[in-house]
Amino acid sequence: MTHDQTPTESVAEFAARARVWLADNMPPIDPDSPPAAPRDDGDAWKRARELQKRLYEGGFAGICFPREYGGLGLDYTYQKAFDDESLCYELPLILNIPTFTICCATLLDTGTEEQKKQHIAAALRGDEVLVQLLSEPSGGSDLAGVITRAERRGDRWVINGAKTWSTSAFAADYGLCLARTNWDVPKHEGLTMFLVPIDHPGITLRHITMLSGSTEFCEEFFDGVDVGDDAVVGEVNGGWAVASRQLYHERRAVGQGSEFASGSGSEGGNANPIDYVALLAKTGQADNERLREMAGRALVHRAVAEQLIEHVSRNVRDGVLPPAAGTLIRLFHAETVQVDVDTAVAVAGAAGVVGEAGDGLEAGLRYLVRQSVAIGGGTTEMARNVIGERVLGFPREYAADRGVPFNQVRHGKD
Ligand SMILES: Cc1cc2nc3c(=O)[nH]c(=O)nc-3n(C[C@H](O)[C@H](O)[C@H](O)COP(=O)(O)OP(=O)(O)OC[C@H]3O[C@@H](n4cnc5c(N)ncnc54)[C@H](O)[C@@H]3O)c2cc1C
Repeated sequence: MTHDQTPTESVAEFAARARVWLADNMPPIDPDSPPAAPRDDGDAWKRARELQKRLYEGGFAGICFPREYGGLGLDYTYQKAFDDESLCYELPLILNIPTFTICCATLLDTGTEEQKKQHIAAALRGDEVLVQLLSEPSGGSDLAGVITRAERRGDRWVINGAKTWSTSAFAADYGLCLARTNWDVPKHEGLTMFLVPIDHPGITLRHITMLSGSTEFCEEFFDGVDVGDDAVVGEVNGGWAVASRQLYHERRAVGQGSEFASGSGSEGGNANPIDYVALLAKTGQADNERLREMAGRALVHRAVAEQLIEHVSRNVRDGVLPPAAGTLIRLFHAETVQVDVDTAVAVAGAAGVVGEAGDGLEAGLRYLVRQSVAIGGGTTEMARNVIGERVLGFPREYAADRGVPFNQVRHGKD
């Protein structure tokens, strides 16, 4: 370990040291066309763990995580300086969401000292991948309505139920799993968050194949999964506070505004930004004024999204905006991606269905997953609800189950 920087090292000195270290230790890439790290590929995860280990050993892992949990304890300006320096190098970007920006960030806020020392440190060393086990087959937006149950048996907890849409769970070591521990109280009051080992013999995990062919999503069936009290994150029946924190971190992460993300480049393949100049040239339409205008509109969206991240993050940090304002970033990010994909499809036309990921003509492939940015991290509709109710102060939407004990709430067809 060479965590040898001092708290007095300036951002410029830190950046200079990072520049030298990156050149000596990390694989160089073309930032305009980074190598793909498909999230459904086991080798991509092995590679990410190995690169993370290098960062850790070099003293550049977890820049904004506290030192006692394996990080550097520095502020966001240092992370941003590192991100700028690292654009031309391969980084383990697939570890950012959800391991660092959501799961570790939530553990940092709500976990026990032991959980932080064990899991945040292990993740920063590249030894652990963490995922979120929140959504269920019965629905994801009404997260407080989960029906996976955890029952007390002696000094253990036994979990039964099912989770779904868990990004990258097949590659993970632990999952933050929200379960119901009390059915006699209103839905938000009877939940507990557990940190469960994914390889537990009681968990059956299956891949879900998406329209695009990707198999990164998983579903998990919990059949008598027993864990101890050390698996409880936060308070028993206080799981909603933990889940709320998780959603807060998720919205910021999905909106690209988390200080716990390391590296700001693209994950490659379909995640690479669309290069309109190349696309217009490839399709023989470089002089088409109308299409150039459309491409310009998409690029302006990107620029505004960048500025919004800066603006909202700063104002939340300074207390000018409430934490829920992170949702503004999340909402605009989804709109930006969708304007981008729609524009690419309009420019590429029929040619957009023949391309492979990353060849510039893959607009059709991107279109197949266009909707996911408006669903992951909570849907766009739920984001608008959050902004309406918790940023703008509009009245809360009607909920028939508010204040009603969960076992008296009507579900499905009853
Ligand atoms: C890319 C991606 C990654 C994901 N990763 C994970 C993960 O790692 N772990 C995990 O647990 N889940 C994950 N999910 C699942 C995601 O959290 C859920 O899909 C999402 O919360 C919506 O839940 P649902 O699909 O069950 O839709 P539902 O909740 O059934 O909603 C259906 C529709 O009704 C609308 N709706 C519902 N309630 C309201 C309301 N009150 N007001 C207005 N409209 C409403 C929704 O906006 C939506 O359009 C991921 C999803 C995607 C796309």
